[in-house]
Amino acid sequence: MKTTILVIEDEVKIARFLELELMHEGYAVQVAYDGRLGYEKAISEDVDLIILDLMLPGLSGIEVCRRVRRESDVPIIMLTAKDDVSDKVMGLDSGADDYMTKSFAIEELLARIRVVLKRKGKNETNNNRLESGKLSLFKDEYRVTYDGREILLSKKEFELLRYLMENQGIVLSREKILDQVWGYDFYGDTNVTDVYIKYLRNKIDQPFGMQFIHTVRGVGYTFKHNEE
Ligand code: CA
Repeated sequence: MKTTILVIEDEVKIARFLELELMHEGYAVQVAYDGRLGYEKAISEDVDLIILDLMLPGLSGIEVCRRVRRESDVPIIMLTAKDDVSDKVMGLDSGADDYMTKSFAIEELLARIRVVLKRKGKNETNNNRLESGKLSLFKDEYRVTYDGREILLSKKEFELLRYLMENQGIVLSREKILDQVWGYDFYGDTNVTDVYIKYLRNKIDQPFGMQFIHTVRGVGYTFKHNEE
């Protein structure tokens, strides 16, 4: 499948130029002309990298970046018209992976895109397997092991763990977990996530003296390996 790049840029000429250059390089390209639409596309579509203009109508690039970061670790390269250090710092603080001024040569941008995508791809070893320390999850077989020992999980526990492990290090809200694991049609209480997190902790944290699942007060949960 083609790598998809989302270009969020209100200047039509630049957006079009980027679209053509990126397509020429073999990428699939999506374009959004304002911040709000860009943000919506960034979280609802399957995007591998975002090129994000700083000055945007609707939502600023910084705000788009912050909001996307709450939901996803998709690589973001920020663009700005001026070579301003404070803009750069703000961009990186808001979670961007890289930063370029608009006087860039297209070859340079393409090179940065390759670097960022490669850096990101390094953590994905086997598509079927998710790993964190001694904990392994085999997606296709619905199987989880710790140090080679089988852990028995219900289907929902497995799906919840898979979602957490696919988003290691990212803070996930209860609502987001509910949407992704139980689906948009679920009208119950968000407490169901707390209940299932507790089940999971009893199966993957407690028996091994580990803490993979961390509570983020007032927000939700994040999955990370203690030793990382
Ligand atoms: Ca702009």
